[in-house]
Amino acid sequence: MTYYADLSRYTRHPAGVPAGVTALNVGWLSWTRRYPRFARGRVPEDLAAALTSLCRDGRREPTSRFHPCGLPHLVGERRRPVRMRVAGEDVLLGNAEVAVVAADGTWLIAPSLVHHYVTRHRYRPPEEFVEAVLAARPLRAGAEAVTAGSPR
Ligand SMILES: [Zn+2]
Repeated sequence: MTYYADLSRYTRHPAGVPAGVTALNVGWLSWTRRYPRFARGRVPEDLAAALTSLCRDGRREPTSRFHPCGLPHLVGERRRPVRMRVAGEDVLLGNAEVAVVAADGTWLIAPSLVHHYVTRHRYRPPEEFVEAVLAARPLRAGAEAVTAGSPR
């Protein structure tokens, strides 16, 4: 999966971002950029549950194939497709993006693997992403038109 630095400008699917909206990358991690260069550490306890909801219900820009987790795993540990357990069912990750809206209106766009990175690799996303996820401000598929029309 392509690496993008946290809070760099989102360019993956620019057509999906309306003019006047700032969209930034979060959680596009890569082993080739030298683990553990990404931020790691404690995150609020509620974050995992909130990310579970986001990565189950808020998926957008789906891809045809599943991206594996590129970070180190134990020998024999399954890496593709990455999955998370939700209410007794497996939800597959790595084939979509999720997006939340920061308090200032900025879109923060992450791979759905962000759930795995946080829960399995102790990735600590930028504060504004954590805040937006906990505040449950997802950018749902088809919501572009609603947020695009904000007056200036
Ligand atoms: Zn992993």
